[in-house]
Amino acid sequence: MLNINYRYRIYPTESQQALMLEWLETCRRLYNHCLRDLKDWINSRKCSLYSCSLVREHIMSPDIPFPSYLEQKRQLTQWKKTNSDYKDVHSQVTQDVVKRLHNTWEAFKTRGFGFPRYKKYGRYQSFLFPQFKENPISDNQIKLPKIGEVTINCHRPIPEGFKVKGVRIVSRARGTIWYAVVTIQCDVNVPDPLPMGRGIGIDIGLESFLVTSDNFRVEPARFFRELQSRLKVLQRRVSRKNKRSKNWEKAQLKVARLHHKIANTRKNFHYSTSHLLCDQADMIFVEDINFKMTAKGFLGKQMLDGGFGQFRHLLSWVCWKRGKHFAKVDHRHTSQICPECGTHTGKKKLNQRVHLCPECGYQTSRDHASGRVILNRGLESIVPVDGGERKLSGNGVLSGEYA
Ligand SMILES: [Zn+2]
Repeated sequence: MLNINYRYRIYPTESQQALMLEWLETCRRLYNHCLRDLKDWINSRKCSLYSCSLVREHIMSPDIPFPSYLEQKRQLTQWKKTNSDYKDVHSQVTQDVVKRLHNTWEAFKTRGFGFPRYKKYGRYQSFLFPQFKENPISDNQIKLPKIGEVTINCHRPIPEGFKVKGVRIVSRARGTIWYAVVTIQCDVNVPDPLPMGRGIGIDIGLESFLVTSDNFRVEPARFFRELQSRLKVLQRRVSRKNKRSKNWEKAQLKVARLHHKIANTRKNFHYSTSHLLCDQADMIFVEDINFKMTAKGFLGKQMLDGGFGQFRHLLSWVCWKRGKHFAKVDHRHTSQICPECGTHTGKKKLNQRVHLCPECGYQTSRDHASGRVILNRGLESIVPVDGGERKLSGNGVLSGEYA
C-alpha cells in the first residue's frame, strides 16, 4: 500500500473560515478534555487507597476503567448529548481528535518521553476528515462534509490509480492561510531502490550547507538571512505594542505570516537541493546524526535554522521517488579519519577547516574529507547478493547486484 500526501492551498470564504476556526477551537477543547480525564485517571492510581498522600489525593472509584481510545470514543457520544459544540463538528473529525491524543499517548509509552500536553489557545491547527467515499476534488473545488465547497488551487492533479483517503485541513499564520493536505492511496507495493551505480557521501554542516564527496558545495541560501533580519524588525514592532491590543494583533499577524513564508522558502530550498543531488548520483549516503540532540549543544540555534532534520527526511523521499538508493551511515568520527588511507588523524577543532593526513599527506578541506569518509562507509555497508566482493570501479561506481 502506497500513501502519498499532497498539499494544496485552499481559499475558504469568510464564513467558512470562521466555521473552521470554530471547529479548531472545539477540537482543542475536546483534546484537552480527554487529556484531563487521562491525567486524572493516572493520578488517581498514583496514591494508595488506604493512606492519604500529602501531595495529591484523587477520589475516583476503582471501577472506572482506563480512559482508552475506545472508552473515550464511547464517552464522546455521551458528551455530545449535553455539549452542542461537540455535536456541531463532523463526527469523524471529533473521533479523530480522540485518536490523535491516544497516538501521542502510545508514542509516549514506547519512547518514554513526550507526554501529551494541553494545547493552548490557537495551538490546535489542523483537523482531519479520515474517510471519503468518492473523490472530493473537482474543478478547483473541494467538497468538505458540513463545510461545503471550498475553492482549491489544484496545482497538480491526483495521479491515475490513486484514491483520496483522507483530507487534513491545516490553518497557518493565525488562521489566514489554509491548506488541504490530501492523503492519496494506491494498492501497489513499490520496493526500495537497490544500491547500484555511482555513490556520493554528503557532509551536512554549518559553513556550507552541505559538501559532497565530489567536493560539490551547496551554500546556505542567502535570502534566509534577509528574511531573518526582516523577522527581527517585525518582532521588535510587536514588543512595542500593548499586549492584546488591535495593533498588537496586526503586528503579530505579520510575524506569523513571515514565519510561514520562511518555512515555505526553506522547504523549497531543501527540495531543490535534494533534486540537485539526485541528478549527480545513484546512491546517496548521509550521516545518522540526531540533529535535535546536536542542536541542544553548542551549535544551538544555527543547526535548527538550517532545518537539517527536515532536509534529510525530504532527501530520502526525493531519492525514493527518483529511484535512487538512500542510506544513513554511522556518524561517529567522520571528521577524524583520512578517507585516502583510513588513518585516525585525531580530533579536529571546530575552527580547523583543513584535513591534512600525517601518513599519506592527503590534503583537502575538512568537510570534503568527511563527505568522502561517509561515502566509504556507505559503500562498505552494501553487501553483494552472491556473497562475493564488491565490484568498484574508479570514481566510486558500483557494478553487479546488491541487496
Ligand atoms: Zn591518509
